Amino acid sequence: MKIAIVRERTEGETRVAATPETVTRFIALGNTVAIEAGAGALARFPDADYQAAGATIAATAEAALKGADIVLTVRRPDAGLLGGVAKGALVVGGMDPYGNEKQVLALAQSGVAVIAMEFMPRITRAQVMDILSSQANLAGYQGVIDAAVQFDRAFPMMMTAAGTVRPAKAFVMGAGVAGLQAIATAKRLGAIVSATDVRPAAKEQVESLGGKFIAVEDEEFKQAETAAGYAKPMSAEYQAKQAVLTAQHIAKQDIVVTTALIPGRPAPKLVSKAMIESMAPGSVVVDLAAERGGNVELTVPGQVVTTPNGVTIIGYTNVPGRLATSASQLFARNLYAFVETLFDKKTKAFAVNWDDELVKATLLTRDGSVVHPNIAAAANAGAAPAKPEAQVKTAPAPKPAPAKAETAVAAAAPLKTGAQKPTAPKKPAAPKAASADVSPAPAAGVTPPSPPPPSPAGDAGAAGGASGAASGGVAAGTAGGAGSAAKPQARPKAAAKPTTAKTPVAAKTTKPAAPTDAAKPKRAPAKSKAAPKSTPETGA
Ligand code: NAD
Repeated sequence: MKIAIVRERTEGETRVAATPETVTRFIALGNTVAIEAGAGALARFPDADYQAAGATIAATAEAALKGADIVLTVRRPDAGLLGGVAKGALVVGGMDPYGNEKQVLALAQSGVAVIAMEFMPRITRAQVMDILSSQANLAGYQGVIDAAVQFDRAFPMMMTAAGTVRPAKAFVMGAGVAGLQAIATAKRLGAIVSATDVRPAAKEQVESLGGKFIAVEDEEFKQAETAAGYAKPMSAEYQAKQAVLTAQHIAKQDIVVTTALIPGRPAPKLVSKAMIESMAPGSVVVDLAAERGGNVELTVPGQVVTTPNGVTIIGYTNVPGRLATSASQLFARNLYAFVETLFDKKTKAFAVNWDDELVKATLLTRDGSVVHPNIAAAANAGAAPAKPEAQVKTAPAPKPAPAKAETAVAAAAPLKTGAQKPTAPKKPAAPKAASADVSPAPAAGVTPPSPPPPSPAGDAGAAGGASGAASGGVAAGTAGGAGSAAKPQARPKAAAKPTTAKTPVAAKTTKPAAPTDAAKPKRAPAKSKAAPKSTPETGA
């Protein structure tokens, strides 16, 4: 079989769907692998490494894809790109199908069979293939690191001859995979950590990581988890009670990291403008749900903004792409683990079992039609249902709003522009970008697709994954330490932090063109009182 990997076309996507490691393993399975030149460059995987692993480097995407039986991808490719692949070729990767039914239909009509890895059931057997978990874990880590970069104070308590520095207080909202890793990371940095979630199972996990659990634990809370382990949408009454509780808590926090998501729906709004206004100057809020509409009322997806009362809100999108090397390594292993199951173990023959539960759960298109029950009706009808409001990630980048048009917070005084770490990459250039920014806007006037049904995973499976995530957090603690040590390019915080300047919202939210081959902005420039905090996330 010929396996092809091309450079990601989505604006700002830094990841790649195969690494030299997985290429070696695919070749050992009896395949040939073709990689478009430069496909791994932004994730620090040079062509030479792929070549050394046995891959063929193709000058163009067309050459790489010609005759391919399997195409691996991070993001859903355009159907137009796949003209030269083998008949019925399998395209495997993240497909972001909700709200993109038209594009999925186009893929179906091009004759390829598409596997949406985000639909992988959360059962023990498939944990190794779970792209949502592998990427969310890194996002949770990076979210706290991003907060630390913006924070003007130290995270840990320090007792020095000159006096004691009090530890930072960090609050994590949503204790799923990203949230648990955020808790573990903030703890490692020395913060006093608390967390909330609507799922009762989260309480023990938060506490096992040394966090304090804060939640309205009423009857609705006890029923808030689906069989698949995901949160259910909460009632307005519950959300009101939750808001009262968290409002008091947030007012005392230095760092808030929000990660709350409901599959297939807009992210719940958990942090209001009033809550932000209650926070002390210098506080930092990281909205890891920014791609899906955000948990924070004032989040500007893809931007870092500072409110008039001095609270910095980080709304980076494609946060895993900020760790392109690690994210690609895990993503590529997720893909390999799934694709390997499509080969006969003894004969090494490519033989897809279309009745396998993993294939059935993830198969979007086959034989010219959209076959996945979650989107088949809408897609095959040729309709383009509106993307759920939450999936801002695929919407165009927000236009800079005039100060007056900003949220109420901004009306009182302009938000400061947020600096997104512009800077020197570890290796080659890597733009940061909100992958979603290039996706089409939702069609107006159509009903958003319904959320996906619970995955086949039962509570036991979900719980297994949860504990896995928790222990992953702990284990990653060790790894995190090593990781920090392995990042010599990271400058001391004082030097790395951008300075904030009172820049009007309109100026601040102006998004620069995404870099193409520009250096990956991993670190902010040296702090300078004169410089506005206005370096938007490049490409994100
Ligand atoms: P997610 O990304 O869908 O959501 C993130 C978190 O936000 C969840 O914990 C959710 O409960 C929480 N949330 C939603 N609404 C909220 C609100 N109003 N207030 C506060 N929090 C809110 O979730 P996830 O990270 O995918 O994890 C969901 C569950 O699945 C977790 O228990 C996780 O450990 C488990 N899991 C299982 C497996 C497996 O293979 N079995 C794999 C990964 C994750």
